[in-house]
Amino acid sequence: MKQVAAVINGESIQTRNTVAVLDPSSGEVIAETPDCGPAEIDLAVSAARRASHQWRKVAVADRARILRRFAQLIERDRDDLGHLEALQTGKPLRQARRDAELTARYFDFYASAVETHYGSSIPLNADTMIFTQWEPHGVTAHVIPWNYPMQIFARTIAPALAMGNCCVLKPAEEAPLTALRLASLALEAGLPAGALNVVTGYGETAGAALTGHSDIDHISFTGSVEVGRTIARAAANRVIPVTLELGGKSPNIVFADADMERAVPGVVNAILQMAGQTCSAGSRLLVHESVHDILVERIQQAFANVTIGPALSDLTLGPLISQAQRSRVLSFLDEARGNGAKIVAGGSALNGGVFGEGFFLQPTLIDDVDPDSPLGQEEVFGPVLAVTRFRDIDEAVQFANGTDYGLVAGVWTRDLSTAHRMIREVLAGQVFVNTYGASGGVELPFGGFKRSGYGREKGAEGLRSFAQIKTGVVAL
Ligand code: NAD
Repeated sequence: MKQVAAVINGESIQTRNTVAVLDPSSGEVIAETPDCGPAEIDLAVSAARRASHQWRKVAVADRARILRRFAQLIERDRDDLGHLEALQTGKPLRQARRDAELTARYFDFYASAVETHYGSSIPLNADTMIFTQWEPHGVTAHVIPWNYPMQIFARTIAPALAMGNCCVLKPAEEAPLTALRLASLALEAGLPAGALNVVTGYGETAGAALTGHSDIDHISFTGSVEVGRTIARAAANRVIPVTLELGGKSPNIVFADADMERAVPGVVNAILQMAGQTCSAGSRLLVHESVHDILVERIQQAFANVTIGPALSDLTLGPLISQAQRSRVLSFLDEARGNGAKIVAGGSALNGGVFGEGFFLQPTLIDDVDPDSPLGQEEVFGPVLAVTRFRDIDEAVQFANGTDYGLVAGVWTRDLSTAHRMIREVLAGQVFVNTYGASGGVELPFGGFKRSGYGREKGAEGLRSFAQIKTGVVAL
């Protein structure tokens, strides 16, 4: 069994107790990581605090140079990182390698962005010189989930380091291995010891000790609404800012005039990527009643042709992250069946043969879902697509906005006015027209409306989350 260490102050740290990491494609244990508690978190936060006194003073060009070197090392190790990511998350190898490329891109992007991130001057009157400048928070805490460990690591750590913060990151207990590998690469790139610390362990212990620590200045959390609430309370107790990137129940909305050649693969990919365990998964299909039958038939066909297997076989659909996650998804399906749901494709776990003891589930299509039912409202986090018909654009907007979430939406239409009206009226952080997602979208501000969270990461906007503005006033 491979023992992997936490990275604190540039050093490898082990603990007596460990947390097992499983390969979801086989159910086998692939590594053991430290079960960090308050003592290790304290070490990591102190290391970040010490490093922050220096790192914030490093010239922007020099910070950017180190981040660019980090990006180059990630590109150099793309295949290894992709392999490790596929192994720990179950996502097909091709997707995992692409995630590694995007991880490098984040560090390149924020290296450039921070070099042109200026304050402003304010022309109040002739006797006063007023200007603003952006300053780092200091020590930032980052808690991330298991579905896109590398990409989310990068989207939250790259802007934080670029702005001059020092960081302590806790990856999810299910998939911590690439974050640890990235922490070692950051040291190789020349990042000072202590500027980036990665502590592993469970959410209730390591995560809670980090987000409740008395010496952190900012929290960036990506995960479920439930844990987001707990973390927001911890931040409120200490009056520190928090960015919450939470869940979604995002709709793909297909109008009668949609180009089906684009809409069908767009809708299918939006739900099957990472086996539906994506915050921005297009898990609801709202379809105009006049094209309902043809669209459902074509998605049924597409689901029937999906190739399913272990991450390293690099097919279209891998397993779910864990047995617990698969059971959770199956319980949604059981409840829906009990209420007479029309499951028109999939609906079952896959076991034996190539699926072995992995956590596989068929791509599942459920027709005529009541928008107010659990399947129409709750984040299932599996390859399950819920279809609801709408009569007109007003009803489409009503259904689209009819959940607690507001992360992403897709609109499929050839009509310019319908497209713009939907962008204006749908309550979501990103609205896509005739596409869904934007190849990783490193450059695009991302974040939720409503219970999908607050604050923004990605894009130039992401830098502002990791800085505070100061106004200087000089009387002449
Ligand atoms: P989760 O909330 O259970 O866990 C996320 C992280 O929080 C993990 O590292 C976990 O260890 C930690 N954690 C758990 N309890 C904690 C506590 N009490 N204090 C501090 N940390 C704690 O979520 P998950 O199951 O890992 O991920 C799935 C969820 O994440 C879904 O809701 C999904 O939509 C959301 N997500 C959102 C985005 C986004 O950008 N909006 C991206 C990916 C995933």
